[in-house]
Amino acid sequence: MLKPIVAGNWKMNKTPKEGNSFISEVLEILSKIDNVNIIFCPPFTGLSNLDISAPFYLGAQNCFYKDHGAYTGEISLSMLIECKVDYVIIGHSERRHMFYEDDKLIGKKVFNVINAGLKPILCIGETLDQKNHGKTFNIIEQQLIKGLISVKSLDNITIAYEPVWAIGTGLTASSEKINEMHSFIRKILTKLYSNFNIDSVPILYGGSVNSENASEIILINGVNGFLIGGASLDIIKFTDIVKIVNEQ
Ligand code: PEP
Repeated sequence: MLKPIVAGNWKMNKTPKEGNSFISEVLEILSKIDNVNIIFCPPFTGLSNLDISAPFYLGAQNCFYKDHGAYTGEISLSMLIECKVDYVIIGHSERRHMFYEDDKLIGKKVFNVINAGLKPILCIGETLDQKNHGKTFNIIEQQLIKGLISVKSLDNITIAYEPVWAIGTGLTASSEKINEMHSFIRKILTKLYSNFNIDSVPILYGGSVNSENASEIILINGVNGFLIGGASLDIIKFTDIVKIVNEQ
């Protein structure tokens, strides 16, 4: 059985000092947790000088696909590796919609993350407009096909299904919808990688997960954990969610 994952995407929040003390407190509160892999994704400035070990991991919120050079404002995978990062979020909806990252760029990044020996968390999800126009399945399929275009094996891949309209809005998809979408994602992956055991690919749900709805969502068939934004910034909310997942 897959070990569930709870990943906290801090976005552009917490200074290095604030992040360090947040992580220290979380490690203390969750010292007995062993059924969940927990991934902290601070801003880049919060990634160094952290000494954590399994089941705690570090993730970056983004990366560039070149290793070095004149790319102002970008960060390379070797820089992330030196900071002991294991996971890299790729294609988060804020990168897609606020910073105009398209599926082609996202596909390059996913490929390079895997090549560097790290684990991409590929985010996919439909906007409200796409949902209202009945395009959800098509969008999800295209995001998977293009995001994984150069990926030969799904060994190190994690998918995060995050309906864009549910991110930071307090709205969550219904249990039926989440189940339907996670099954659909597995169906597409099966089509793309017929020789691979798709059940070993973690598919996380993201979109306004909190300590009130986590116990219901984690029980949905096909949900292997969460990618959390807002609630991952609050020690009590974040650790409560991890505890809920740990008990399932
Ligand atoms: C996210 O940004 O990936 C996310 C799921 O945010 P929130 O939990 O705040 O909806």
